[in-house]
Amino acid sequence: MLSSNQLWQAVLGELELSLSRANFTTWFKNTSIAEVGDDKIIISVPNAFTKSWFEEKYHKFILKALHNITNNQVNDIVYRIETGRPNKRPLVADTADTISKIKISSKAEGNQTVLRETNDFNLNSKYVFETFIIGESNQLAHSASQAVAREPGVKYNPLFLYGGVGLGKTHLIQAIGHAIVRFFSHFKVLYINFEKFTNDYVQAARNGSFDKFREFYRGHDVLLVDDVQFMLNKKKTQDEFFHTFEALHQHNKQIVITSDRPPKELKDLEERLITRFEWGMIADINMPDYETRVAILKSKCQEKNFSLTDEIIEYLATYISSNIRELEGALNKIFAWHQLNQIEPTLAGVKDMLTNFFTSAQKKALNPKRVIEEVSSFYEIQIVDLVGDCRKKDLVVPRQIIMYLLREELNSSYPSIGAAVGGRDHTTAIHACNKINLLMQADERVRLEIESIKQRLYV
Ligand code: ADP
Ligand code: MG
Repeated sequence: MLSSNQLWQAVLGELELSLSRANFTTWFKNTSIAEVGDDKIIISVPNAFTKSWFEEKYHKFILKALHNITNNQVNDIVYRIETGRPNKRPLVADTADTISKIKISSKAEGNQTVLRETNDFNLNSKYVFETFIIGESNQLAHSASQAVAREPGVKYNPLFLYGGVGLGKTHLIQAIGHAIVRFFSHFKVLYINFEKFTNDYVQAARNGSFDKFREFYRGHDVLLVDDVQFMLNKKKTQDEFFHTFEALHQHNKQIVITSDRPPKELKDLEERLITRFEWGMIADINMPDYETRVAILKSKCQEKNFSLTDEIIEYLATYISSNIRELEGALNKIFAWHQLNQIEPTLAGVKDMLTNFFTSAQKKALNPKRVIEEVSSFYEIQIVDLVGDCRKKDLVVPRQIIMYLLREELNSSYPSIGAAVGGRDHTTAIHACNKINLLMQADERVRLEIESIKQRLYV
């Protein structure tokens, strides 16, 4: 039997693959399945805002994921606001709450793997050193993290970890948090994503409550800040972060930072911040090699109490080489499918099941349709609007980005670009490409957005 919690975890696993990380964490934390009816599921959401976003933006995705996992047994979803829910997912309590109609192997029972369970320190219980597999690609980052966890504030301060998407930055920074919470019981530890810092700062500015804000951020012994690349283009927040950093560092409080690129490449960042980031230890995390990928897959299977033949594991490790999140995504998919169908996974079955997955996970020959779809999903704008005639600024720039990407990534001719984007003239395409070229030089945010879209085109 699949508990509603397990079902929701499987849904989240699917959604995580199709949404950006930022969107995923913003919208899906603090959600759960509240009730399961005959063909209807009630999803609990934390506030009215999320409810309307789910209804308007994510309903289709959630329904599709539910369909995939339950073999089309769920026909309707209702979103219900449940305030005052604890941050924690009602994990154990709802294992009794089973979905009678869904056949699931008993292996699911007792599997307590949680995607986003957080404790009071805002840490995910999965992301500990014990579950982190060490390979050449992450050895330095791992040992520096352990050193910091053993002697916070002493050796490497700050510790700056950087690497591409899905390579284990969040896992490592949180592992440091867990270890310090465990071994230094009096230490106040704070883990945040940089977006949270920004939001809190904006809030403080709005309420005139800077004192409280500063007291909070400076009142910790360990500050773990994930994804500082989000500070680009935010001058005031950068400034505030600089002072937070100074205050903590002067008192030998440990600071750990992650970013998708090294300090020097955080262009547009104030020089004094870059200097500070380079004070301590900088460690990179790279793409894991084949052996490490095999080891990670084996360990994830063990975590899930689920076994796959070596043949299947080697197949996955060979064909999914982009990042570890993709590897886990494939594994979750196999896991959910296997539980549902109660059949031992075979290599042929896995290949079959993952056809779609690979086409998106592997470098697939790009075509204009994909470029348009990726831009549409990135900006959350309907394709009809993107290729339509409306000249609102919110639409015009993404539309021009499509044309730019078609030119840069596909080498398409201007007339064919015009044709692909709603039958426009070739001069419009030329203008769009020039415009985006200029905009990328002038506006760091646009440049980063385009980088992210490109990344998504090639994962
Ligand atoms: P990032 O923050 O760099 O984008 P994450 O830390 O979120 O990446 O990692 C993505 C997924 O891959 C997580 O579920 C994480 O547990 C897993 N992962 C990454 N590196 C390792 C590793 N070395 N060993 C085990 N799991 C890993
Ligand atoms: Mg991360």
